[in-house]
Amino acid sequence: MIIDCHVHTGPQFNTWWKNIIKSEKEFCAYLKKCGVDKAVLQGSSSQLRYKNIKDVTNGNKYMLDFSKKHPGKFIPSVFVTPAYLKESLNEMELYRKKNNVVWIGEMLNYTGDYSYDSPDCHKLFEKAIELDMIVCIHAEQNEIDNVLRKYPAMTVVLPHPGLSRLEINNRIDLAVKYKNTYLDLCGYGADRMGNVEEMVRRLGDDRILYGSDFTVNDPGVVIARVRNALIPQKSKEKIFYKNILRLLKSKSFSF
Ligand SMILES: [Zn+2]
Repeated sequence: MIIDCHVHTGPQFNTWWKNIIKSEKEFCAYLKKCGVDKAVLQGSSSQLRYKNIKDVTNGNKYMLDFSKKHPGKFIPSVFVTPAYLKESLNEMELYRKKNNVVWIGEMLNYTGDYSYDSPDCHKLFEKAIELDMIVCIHAEQNEIDNVLRKYPAMTVVLPHPGLSRLEINNRIDLAVKYKNTYLDLCGYGADRMGNVEEMVRRLGDDRILYGSDFTVNDPGVVIARVRNALIPQKSKEKIFYKNILRLLKSKSFSF
C-alpha cells in the first residue's frame, strides 16, 4: 500500500497543468498509474493563491466533496490563512467538528506574504492544538524553528527535505529536536541520494512520510527513491503507509 501525504487538486488545478492533467478522472488515473492507493488532498491552486475569502472556503468545500466522491481514497484538508483569520478559525472548527477533517494545509506563506511567527498565525496554531489537528507547513528552516519551539505540542508535517545536504541535515535536526514533527519527502530534495537513509539513521523510521506534491511533481520519483533506499523493508512500509495511518488514527480519523 502507498499513501501519499501531499497532493494538490482543486477548482483551478487544471489551469496549472492543463495540458497534462485535464480532469479529476485523469488526476485519479495518474495516481493509480504510479501505484498510489490513497492521498491527502492539500490546498488547491485557487486556495494557495487566493484572491478572496471565497477562494479559500470554496476550495475547502471542494476538498471535502472530492473526498466524499471517492470513499476511502482521499483524506481532505482545510486550508487556512492569517489573511482571513476569523474565517479561517471558523473553517477549522467547522471542518474538524462537523466532518472530522484532521489535516490543515498546506500553509504557504510566500503566496500569502505573512510570517509563521506572527500573532495572527499563532492564533491559527493555538486553534490547531486545541482541535488536535495536523498542520502541514511549507517553511524555510529559519522561519519554522521558532514556531516549533513555541508550540511543541503541535503536530507538524514539514514538506520538502531541502535542496542541499546542509538543508536536509537541518531538516532532520528539527525533527530530532521536536518530537511532534514529521518529515514529508515531497518536493525539492526528494530525489537526493542519501536523504531517506540519513533520516532513518538519525531520526528513526517513525516520523518520515511518503509525499509527492503531485500535480506539481511526479509521484513516481519519490516512490523510486524510497524503494531503492538502502534501508530495511520494514522502514519502507512505515514510510509508504504505516506512519501516516498511525498519525491519522491518533487524531481519530477514519476513512
Ligand atoms: Zn505542496
